Amino acid sequence: HSQKCAARKILVEFQEACDTSLLRLRMVVDAMAAEMHAGLVSEGGSTLKMLPTYIDRLPDGNERGLYYAVDLGGTNFRVLRVQLGGLEGRVINQEYEEVPIPPHVMLGTSKQLFDFIAKELVSFVAREGQDFRLHAGQQREIGFTFSFPVDQTAVNSGKLLQWTKGFKVNDAIGQDVVAALQRSIESLGHKMRISALINDTVGTLAGGRYWNNDVMIGVILGTGTNACYVERAEAVSKWGGEIPKSGQMVINMEWGNFWSSHLPRTYVDESLDNESLNPGEYGFEKMISGMYLGDCVRRVLVRMAQQAGIFGPRVPHRLLEAFSLKTPDMSKMHQDNNNDLRVVGEILNSVYQIQNTTLGIRKIVVEVCDVVCKRGARLAGAGIVGILKKIGRDGSAANGVIKRNLFEQSDMNGYHDDDPMQYTSDVKTVVAIDGGLYEHYTKFREYMQDAVFELLGEASKNVSIQLSKDGSGIGAALLAASHAEHL
Ligand code: ADP
Ligand code: MG
Repeated sequence: HSQKCAARKILVEFQEACDTSLLRLRMVVDAMAAEMHAGLVSEGGSTLKMLPTYIDRLPDGNERGLYYAVDLGGTNFRVLRVQLGGLEGRVINQEYEEVPIPPHVMLGTSKQLFDFIAKELVSFVAREGQDFRLHAGQQREIGFTFSFPVDQTAVNSGKLLQWTKGFKVNDAIGQDVVAALQRSIESLGHKMRISALINDTVGTLAGGRYWNNDVMIGVILGTGTNACYVERAEAVSKWGGEIPKSGQMVINMEWGNFWSSHLPRTYVDESLDNESLNPGEYGFEKMISGMYLGDCVRRVLVRMAQQAGIFGPRVPHRLLEAFSLKTPDMSKMHQDNNNDLRVVGEILNSVYQIQNTTLGIRKIVVEVCDVVCKRGARLAGAGIVGILKKIGRDGSAANGVIKRNLFEQSDMNGYHDDDPMQYTSDVKTVVAIDGGLYEHYTKFREYMQDAVFELLGEASKNVSIQLSKDGSGIGAALLAASHAEHL
């Protein structure tokens, strides 16, 4: 009993420190919109990199032919081929393969990494069936989804700025990742063209837009988290290039690195960050994404084991090991519907050899999962509403002339530069989301949607959130199609 009491005290303290009340979320929304603005104005002026992607037009359904995508960015590496049949045929045929990335490749040399990708790609292409056809004389065109921050210099070239999500391949930093992959493919005696280098968020946006014209925002909630959106090119004041004909530019926010003093940071976040491969960076990602949520839970359980003895007189050895609790296991415990919480018991036993937990202790474990999940999901929701606010689609400007004048005034000090056309109220906006965390963790998805709807109020009738499953893969192939070199 005294253990349960002491543990409950730790729980309540943690819960309070993780506050995501509507009041606090509104501050996060405002901070996100302000950081977005700052990041568009100057390099390094914001925690958001706001990277121009060189994607100035999105798929419209007319794409035709056979295209490929390779996707590197998290837990698994994927290769995909898709036969596109234009507006009538759409996606005629598609096939993909997925291989886990060996840990030594995530921490090795650039050559090892790109040789690994090239080898998988080449063997995938070699196993192509009769139902996939290139046009006569068409070369193989590839969309390369590379989900790390890249300083792009063209639609198909860009230098890696830094690694995230557990990758550390030091000699790749500063390299053109397209040239590196191209070299590895050629060294295997093959000729293919990488026609587009894209972030997974951009693939998700493109994959969503292919089916629905109202898609304006792409979000990833998987191993990591990030978002991109369609910006007016003229609003990207740091952009030195020519304004594209479309007048638009997709911006990769790298929102994983977002930071604001309004974020509810706790001792858990501090120790997790200190022990991570990228300390001091990607703090938003570390509160939200699948790579980290389980470890946040584990760190609270460690405190409960050490200070309240919830798992007996000795702290189970493995519990002290970073990342030993995976987010899928956290979600299974969190969503255990059995009265006796037997799934919680089973997971504690199989992962940590913790036996004979009381129902009371198991309930506390579930509550810890709930606090961590809810905080991450609500912060992701606030991030989305921040983007909607930046592009004038959050409803805050819908009620007419007075507000519009206010915005025009603030235009003069260069703060609000959105298109006045967007203030007309009933524009629909769709947010396309991809990633295993959002797809498989029901409570996360529900908490996130609740936060978006709470924040938007009335305006939520014009906003919808859609799962764009594998959108990032197909999106990459679609962008390869629209940026193909026609021979
Ligand atoms: P990536 O970001 O590597 O492309 P995915 O989009 O496939 O990855 O998402 C994989 C991540 O999703 C895993 O690392 C895990 O954190 C999370 N995930 C997968 N399944 C579940 C689940 N059942 N519950 C919670 N999180 C999950
Ligand atoms: Mg992915």
